[in-house]
Amino acid sequence: MQYDVIVIGAGPAGLALTRSLADARLRVALLDKQPLDALVAPPVDGRDIALTHLSRKLLRRLGAWERIPARDISPLREARVLDGDSPYTLAFDNAGHAEEPLGYLVANHLIRKALFEVVDPLDRVDMIGGVEASAVASDASRATVQLSDGRQLSADLLVGADTRFSETRRRMGIAAEMNDFGRVAIVCRMEHEQPHNNVAWECFHYGRTLAILPMPGNASSVVITVPADRAGEIMDLDEAAFNADIERRFELRLGRMCLAGQRYAYPLVAVHAKRFVARRFALVGDAAVGMHPVTAHGFNLGLSGADILARQVHEAVRKGQDIGSAGVLAPYQERHMGATRPLFHGTNGVVGLFTNDRFPATLLRKAVLHLSNHLPPVKWAIRHKLTSKGGLPEFPLPPRLPGLKRLLP
Ligand SMILES: Cc1cc2nc3c(=O)[nH]c(=O)nc-3n(C[C@H](O)[C@H](O)[C@H](O)COP(=O)(O)OP(=O)(O)OC[C@H]3O[C@@H](n4cnc5c(N)ncnc54)[C@H](O)[C@@H]3O)c2cc1C
Repeated sequence: MQYDVIVIGAGPAGLALTRSLADARLRVALLDKQPLDALVAPPVDGRDIALTHLSRKLLRRLGAWERIPARDISPLREARVLDGDSPYTLAFDNAGHAEEPLGYLVANHLIRKALFEVVDPLDRVDMIGGVEASAVASDASRATVQLSDGRQLSADLLVGADTRFSETRRRMGIAAEMNDFGRVAIVCRMEHEQPHNNVAWECFHYGRTLAILPMPGNASSVVITVPADRAGEIMDLDEAAFNADIERRFELRLGRMCLAGQRYAYPLVAVHAKRFVARRFALVGDAAVGMHPVTAHGFNLGLSGADILARQVHEAVRKGQDIGSAGVLAPYQERHMGATRPLFHGTNGVVGLFTNDRFPATLLRKAVLHLSNHLPPVKWAIRHKLTSKGGLPEFPLPPRLPGLKRLLP
């Protein structure tokens, strides 16, 4: 079974890449260990994804954005950060661009469903569900994948999109930096009395953090991160006690709150592959960079990485080049590594600082919040990162900072 490209992992990153590759009239095999039924109608997994404007643009280009019902998309108009038990708030808003939100919140299973729907009808794509890649290899002329059902596939290019714990990455000899935070994120939907006004909150309380993200209606996505040894007791709390605990910790800002659905637990491990490419092989999505969710970069980076790789492949097809050659893959690695490495280390630094409850870190936490609030370029850079649709900055650069343009991603 011969293909141009084999993609292992039909998560949102693998699906997005496959959709883009199909435009180059390539024959693609997309395989996942989950059965096709689960990929057609992905179950709720508790993750609500904050998407940047660039991600919305990319999803639109793939035809997936329109497949997400408008009633399930929640615009994010303001973000506020609290530290410890202080009422002092670091706030980001859309800086007078009232019609332009900072970003959009969408449930992960709806993103997966929409992407599946744009890939499924493509006649040059074979979607193979319910199988695992039991062995992978590549040589100068082909990449091969041995499937768990005994079949063997080969292609010019193999792509690993099989989660941050990617087996394919390991089998292709790519090492990864792993940062196990020893913490767990517990996520759930909650309904509440008061409107959220499309404001997101990140509360770095001592001992645990609490994020409240505005979802459609009077509902929010709640993300609690705690040391792993405390997660069990929060998962096991009965509903009334859980509701009361969140209300108290959020100081009834949204009035009475009520769990809607179940709680999901995700161990927090951030991963950055040392390389994104090998012989006839590339990594995309979390398999390349699995971020801590606090800065909401994970899928946004997965989507932009898939876009960069797809562009490289398209160009190679146009020029009649070998799509699995080092010359085609190297620029992808260079660009995506350059974009992700500073964010990976920056995010881990933020997590390290804001989960360290000892003096002097607590003092530094407060200083960082105050400084960020009073340094317009910091806020501008963060806002720009969220709202930019790619290409050159769309906001005028702040005056008196001629060097800033070079520093911005
Ligand atoms: C609590 C939480 C909140 C988050 N919030 C945000 C956010 O606000 N913004 C944001 O941008 N990102 C966020 N993320 C990150 C985002 O969810 C991930 O970056 C994204 O889901 C990664 O997509 P992926 O396709 O790379 O991998 P995955 O979604 O992990 O999908 C991988 C696929 O590979 C398949 N697979 C695995 N192993 C094999 C194998 N051996 N053979 C075949 N198939 C295999 C799996 O079945 C799966 O379908 C969050 C994550 C969490 C946990």
